[in-house]
Amino acid sequence: MTTPTIELKPTSHPLSDAEREAILASPGFGRHFTDNMVTVRWTEGRGWHDAQLVPYAPLSMDPANMTLHYAQTIFEGLKAYRQADGTVATFRPEANAERFQTSARRIAMPEVPVDLFIAACDALVQQDKAWVPSTGEASLYLRPFMIAAEVGLGVKPANEYLFIVIASPAGAYFPGGVKPVSVWLSEEYVRAVKGGTGAAKTGGNYAASLVAQAEAAQHGCDQVVWLDAVEHRWIEEMGGMNLYFVYAQEDGSRKIVTPELTGSLLPGITRDSLLKIARDLGYEAVEGRISTEDWKRDNENGTLLEVFACGTAAVITPVGSVKSARHHWTQGDGEPGEVTMKLRRALLDLQTGQAPDPHGWMHPLG
Ligand SMILES: *Cc1c(COP(=O)(O)O)cnc(C)c1O
Repeated sequence: MTTPTIELKPTSHPLSDAEREAILASPGFGRHFTDNMVTVRWTEGRGWHDAQLVPYAPLSMDPANMTLHYAQTIFEGLKAYRQADGTVATFRPEANAERFQTSARRIAMPEVPVDLFIAACDALVQQDKAWVPSTGEASLYLRPFMIAAEVGLGVKPANEYLFIVIASPAGAYFPGGVKPVSVWLSEEYVRAVKGGTGAAKTGGNYAASLVAQAEAAQHGCDQVVWLDAVEHRWIEEMGGMNLYFVYAQEDGSRKIVTPELTGSLLPGITRDSLLKIARDLGYEAVEGRISTEDWKRDNENGTLLEVFACGTAAVITPVGSVKSARHHWTQGDGEPGEVTMKLRRALLDLQTGQAPDPHGWMHPLG
């Protein structure tokens, strides 16, 4: 089975320049979509076929479509950034393509070939390039996803799937300057357990997280922090972002630690990139295990200086305070930390082409 090429059938009625510019002036997140989308179909015995770039439009679906009932669905998230020279580039699309394959295997879906995944993203960004914002930290967020396309209520992997890429302009996550978030340690609900689907980017994980996010909000917190499902002790991640802990070392240098990938965490591409960028900047950067008691104690004794979360959507978000059923503390002085802000700047400079790209992560699209 060969990888299909994408047939270009864009809309003949794109938004006018004025309408698009009005949206780009204040895009928010995930509220507006570009003029086109890419769809590719997979059928058992035939593989991937009918790859098309078509006008952005609703999908018509049978009420017994399997995705609607049993949640056989996976997704990705990556960004296209306007570069310092005016061109456009995406950040590490092959890493997203590979993770999409890992997610597909876990949810018993067919794998999209890496070259088809990247070609679909490229085609959409090329076609809708005018939608890539050129201001500060704004970007064009790409959302590749796959759903089952078979009709029926029997529980089994579907024999037909749709791979789709849509794109949505995203404003700066912190338009008024970086603001630390407050987090709720979820000791009742868990996100994922070893052997489950925590390492797959699949809709069900998010459905299961909403009640804990609501609990966090009830306690006045912005985000939920997930603990391991067995001991309810080990820090896993924050909402849809991975976490980093910044420690002072005895010689005065800094070390950053992120929870190790135990099988129940989502292996973030931002997380992986920061392990390397931190080392480039001369910090020690490692994966490890951090408990809620470690977090509280090391914050109190002054060795844990900063905590931040990272992910494609928000890049880096400082954590300013922590709450649980029994505890409440301010992380450091509650303000964005020095290492946090330095890593944030370094990553954004790389993504927007204002700094060199020593790891070859940027994928230029002209
Ligand atoms: C997508 C996601 C992340 C962050 O991954 P990035 O590749 O850095 O965007 C972290 N945790 C969860 C649960 C996610 O779904």
